[in-house]
Amino acid sequence: MDQNQRQELDRETDFDVIIVGAGFAGLYMLHRLRGLGLNARVYEAGENVGGTWYWNRYPGARCDAESLAYSFSFSPELEQEWEWSERYATQPEILRYAEHVADRFDLRRDIRFERTVTAARFDEATRLWTVETEQGDRARARICIMATGCLSVPQRPDIPGLDDFQGNLYQASLWPHEGVDFTGQRVGVIGTGSSAIQAIPVIAVQAGQLTVFQRTPNFSVPAVNSKLDPEWVAQFKAHYREHRDNHRHGLGQGFGDLEIEPHPPAPAAETGAELTDAELEQALEEYWAKGGARFMGAVTDSLSNEETNRLFADFVRKKIRATVKDPEVAEALCPSDHPIGTKRICVDTGYYETYNRDNVSLVNLRKTPIERVTANGIQTSDAHYELDTLVLATGFDAMTGALLRMDIRGVGGMALAEKWAAGPRSYLGIGIAGFPNLFTITGPGSPSVLSNMLVSIEQHVDWMIDCIRYMEDEGLALVEPEPDAEDAWVDHVNEVANGTLFPKGGSWYLGANVAGKPRVFMPYAAGVGAYREVCDRVAENGYEGFRFSA
Ligand code: NAP
Repeated sequence: MDQNQRQELDRETDFDVIIVGAGFAGLYMLHRLRGLGLNARVYEAGENVGGTWYWNRYPGARCDAESLAYSFSFSPELEQEWEWSERYATQPEILRYAEHVADRFDLRRDIRFERTVTAARFDEATRLWTVETEQGDRARARICIMATGCLSVPQRPDIPGLDDFQGNLYQASLWPHEGVDFTGQRVGVIGTGSSAIQAIPVIAVQAGQLTVFQRTPNFSVPAVNSKLDPEWVAQFKAHYREHRDNHRHGLGQGFGDLEIEPHPPAPAAETGAELTDAELEQALEEYWAKGGARFMGAVTDSLSNEETNRLFADFVRKKIRATVKDPEVAEALCPSDHPIGTKRICVDTGYYETYNRDNVSLVNLRKTPIERVTANGIQTSDAHYELDTLVLATGFDAMTGALLRMDIRGVGGMALAEKWAAGPRSYLGIGIAGFPNLFTITGPGSPSVLSNMLVSIEQHVDWMIDCIRYMEDEGLALVEPEPDAEDAWVDHVNEVANGTLFPKGGSWYLGANVAGKPRVFMPYAAGVGAYREVCDRVAENGYEGFRFSA
């Protein structure tokens, strides 16, 4: 009997809180709600916990944040006892960690797996949320918490003939649990974002022939991944509290650094504009050698000053040309259509080197676009590529996708889809005017996808728990943002984004990868420390900008 059969449907059941999603956000929220003595139900579409790490099992999938930072800090025992094996953990290791957290804190008994939430509607008369799942659950709660993740709705490309393909068709973010053996196969990959850039080097080693279909090249920096030395880990962990403090309050996005001895968070000393070209080049070499996405932090103005940004981009293009032997392929791999870092920078292991393999070729779709997928391959404007297997690594309907595919309705039956028709509007990325007692963990308008997600998840959950405790103590039934506060926050989020180069990126941060999606820069770009200060101040001032009713 599988887990789903064991779990009876919820019918007209009442809870204090319903949480949607059992990724890291849902797990930690459930744990904290239990601490408040509240009774919570979690609905999760997958068969297991882990969220993004449950679904994204493509070859080479691993985190681009360092393991010792991309992990929960709420339990000193957990952080001491869990041993990460690599600087950047693989997907299987992170999934094991999520499972360990669920078991260690006995969370599974309140989670219903294989339940896809389709609707959450607020009823003004009862002041309750009713949540429905595709499988037939119908439950009510005072509070509804969306822990639905930011990159959880895969984008299937609208390429003619895709359904005609007779070979094996896989999507990176919906990878078969049993894995895929590419041995001897002719494999095609569509997409060259973070997922593809991790998968391509691994598939290339196994496949007979790999053809990468690239529309837009991305900037990628080497991960410089390695096994973790237990001695180094022990020393780092001896300072864990200070490191965690730095993640939370630092000027950046909560990724911390690799020094064993923690030091107060400090910005890189200079802006690029203050350095000579030779000094900047040296700083970039140092950061390139350290590895990872902190490359963009080599100076402070890499994402705000166009000239500094251009020097960063030139540096990476030089590295690509030095690595890839075929000059035509190297040129095709050099991004030129967006400032570096304004699309999420990719972190790779041997990506560019892979194009030097005899069994790997690149098709530049800018020159020869795909006309259609055929029964046995891909037809571009100048050739037909025969394929046994096609892998789609074509991204997600990010940040709002998971929320908007549910029928979420607030006061007066207002649909969230209607309210957000011109782009997401939220106060602090936490609450939405007109949707009382609805919280969004790492919602649009918060640092979210720009940040170390574990840091942002813990911050949001802790803030929400304090707010719920305040309501319990004060006998308050409902909380929702004031429309004015929400408007001011949306303006502020835009203002901060407009002070950076991010809006020039044409990225999924802006919704630019989804046809018809409003172009709004969705995350808050001021950094996790500054954002935390705002949230703390709001709470200290009696939840300024929120209104409560008894
Ligand atoms: P993505 O960055 O959105 O990349 C999607 C790719 O598919 C792009 O190269 C895109 O090309 C291409 N594409 C989409 N539709 C296409 C079409 N019709 N024809 C040809 N190409 C098409 O998606 P992703 O790689 O899944 O990454 C999304 C985000 O997930 C990342 O930015 C990151 O935040 C997260 N992620 C993180 C990790 C990690 O932690 N290591 C790993 C994977 C993903 P265009 O640019 O031309 O549209």
